[in-house]
Amino acid sequence: MRLNTLLLLSILLALYACAPLRPLGPDLPEETSIPTEPEKEKEREPEVPEKRQIINIGIAFEKESATIECPEKKWEFKAGANLGRTEIETKGRCTYAGKTYRGNWSVLSTDSGLVVINSLDIEDYLKGVVPYEIGRLNKQGFEALKAQAVAARTYAYRHLNSRRSQGFDMYADVRDQVYNGTGGEDSLVNEAISMTRDLVIKYNGNLIEAFYHSTCGGKTDGTEVWGQENRPYLLSVLDTANGKVYCESSRLFNWEEKFSRTELAILFQNNATNARADKVFPFSRVEQIFIIEKFPSGRVKRLVVITDKGSFEVFGDRTRWLFQRDGKILPNAAFSIAQDRNEITITGSGFGHGIGMCQVGAITRAREGQKFDEILKAYYTGVEIESF
Ligand SMILES: [Zn+2]
Repeated sequence: MRLNTLLLLSILLALYACAPLRPLGPDLPEETSIPTEPEKEKEREPEVPEKRQIINIGIAFEKESATIECPEKKWEFKAGANLGRTEIETKGRCTYAGKTYRGNWSVLSTDSGLVVINSLDIEDYLKGVVPYEIGRLNKQGFEALKAQAVAARTYAYRHLNSRRSQGFDMYADVRDQVYNGTGGEDSLVNEAISMTRDLVIKYNGNLIEAFYHSTCGGKTDGTEVWGQENRPYLLSVLDTANGKVYCESSRLFNWEEKFSRTELAILFQNNATNARADKVFPFSRVEQIFIIEKFPSGRVKRLVVITDKGSFEVFGDRTRWLFQRDGKILPNAAFSIAQDRNEITITGSGFGHGIGMCQVGAITRAREGQKFDEILKAYYTGVEIESF
C-alpha cells in the first residue's frame, strides 16, 4: 500500500473515532445466549426436515456420572457400564445438575463417557429458550417476544437431526440455542409461544436459517461476514425509520475499547488462531493495524496487522476474536480504529454478528405498534410466516 493511501486511511479512521457517544440504554440479553457462527459441518444447506414434535436436546457430555431426579425415582448412572441407551419416562419434571426440565430423558453410555439427553415437545422446549434469547419483556414488547418465538422455533425445526451422529438434535448452549429448562419460564413468554404455535419463517417454501443478534447498529448483514455465500433472505437491511435507528436505545449502540500496543502484541499472538488469521507466526511488536476493506454495512471485511516480523490478515466477523481480552470479544465488527504511539482505540456500533433479526430493534418496533410478522419481514427479506 502506498504511503499517501495509508495517510488518508489514518485520517479517515481518526475522524470516525471522533463520532459522539450516545447515552447508555437498557441492558440487553448477553450475546453469549445467541447462536454463533455455525461450525463447518453445518454450513451446507440441510434438507428440509420432516416435521417432528419431539425434540432431543443434548444437555451434558463426557460425564463420569449422572444423576437425574424424577418424581417417581432417582436415576444414577456411571460411565463405563452398560454401553448403550437408557430411556427414562416420567409424568413429572426431573432435575439434572440443579436445573429442572419438562419431558423425558435418555442417557447414552459411550466410550468417552455419559451423554444426557432431554426429549420434549418443541413448544415446551421454546419456553426454556426464548427467555434466555431476548430476555423477559413487559406487555409493550409482546410482539417482539412473538417474533423471537417464531425465529427460535424456525431455528429448532431447521436444525432437527443436525447433531444426529451424537444421538440428539441440538445442543442446549450457544452452539445452537441456549436452553435452561423451566427455571426461567415466564408467563408472558409462554403466551407469546402459544399464540404463535407452529408458526415458522419460510423462503420459497423452505425453512430459513433464522439467525438473530442483539443490536445491529443501524444496518444488518448477510452471512458474507462469516465468509459464506449470502442467502437471499439474509441481506443487509437498514434498521431505520424517519432518520431514527430502531436499536439506538441499546447500551452497545456505540462502544469504545482501548488497548496499549504492548497488550495487543500479546493478545494478537494468543488470538490469531481463533480469529482464523491467514498466517500465524511469532512476533513482538504491533506496528500498524489497517482496515483495508469494509462490507457495505460498515462491518470490517479485511483487517491487516503489520508486525515487526511480517503481516497477517483477518476476515469479517472473526476480527472480533483477534481483540479478545479476558474472554470477551469485541461487541461487533462494525468498528473503526484510531492509533497513536502507545494506544489503539476501537470505536464501534452494535452488538452481535449482525445477521438477521436485530433484537433491540424488534423490541422498539413492537413498542411502536408493529406486529410480529411485520417485524420478522423487516429483517428477513422476502419471507412468509406460515404453519409448519
Ligand atoms: Zn438494529
